[in-house]
Amino acid sequence: MHEPEDASVAIIGIPFDGTVSNRPGARFGPEAVRSATLGAEDYSPYLDRDIATVSIHDAGDLELPIGDTAAVLRVIGENYRTLTAAGPRVVALGGEHLVSLPLIEATHERYGDDLFVVQLDAHTDLRHDYLGVALSHAAVMHHVKARLGADHMAQIGIRSGAVDEWRELRAHPYFFGSLAPRPLESFPAFARETLAGRPIYLTIDLDVFDPGILPGTGTPEPGGISFREAMALLKSLIDARADIIGADIVELAPDYDHSGISAALAATLLRELILMMGKP
Ligand code: MN
Ligand code: MN
Repeated sequence: MHEPEDASVAIIGIPFDGTVSNRPGARFGPEAVRSATLGAEDYSPYLDRDIATVSIHDAGDLELPIGDTAAVLRVIGENYRTLTAAGPRVVALGGEHLVSLPLIEATHERYGDDLFVVQLDAHTDLRHDYLGVALSHAAVMHHVKARLGADHMAQIGIRSGAVDEWRELRAHPYFFGSLAPRPLESFPAFARETLAGRPIYLTIDLDVFDPGILPGTGTPEPGGISFREAMALLKSLIDARADIIGADIVELAPDYDHSGISAALAATLLRELILMMGKP
């Protein structure tokens, strides 16, 4: 374990699920991923690399003032700025999807308008508010879009949302998936043409995966992507020489999956992200 100054990748847990609209429990995500990593191999046959070759810092889990969403987001943003200023690229473990908002805001401050956000999700998360509440996990990508613009984000795997959200999503230039104008298979060519050399923030809402392989999430949706499809997407970013400068894995709610396969998938994904973002 390295100090943040000596690490190329840091992990931070953000155990918050205060705005979850359906089934809560994502606050237990970081703990479940950490425990699942104990059963996962350090070596990735996908990338032919071992995470023992990467200098990693574990920043632990944030202590959050549950009950005051604005304060929670402020604390997340402050801690993230401090951690990234020390040097490492950070993989954040949610928590619900709203935790990505302060992370993306801080990343935008640092990298400017070249930043491109790639969202994997079953849901558009483009609501302007949920039952009158603007700071909601169902509105997180609306806030990101308001800040970056629709041409600075790709939305992948979406298969659920309200009619207004879908009208908006279909007008987005970079919507990929089985219900999208652009099939998943066209993403690698898009990445080569548009994302080469650019700073990429990757936000992975685990409900993008099919509930058959990832049942442990608050709002499961049938018809999701496979792990192989997700790996192909990630590898296409690397092949395109896109620069993944930040990432999060959110919405794991382990208590809905007593088999542990959801946390196992998240832990494998974490290993792959560490390898893609990290240096020795
Ligand atoms: Mn989401
Ligand atoms: Mn979702």
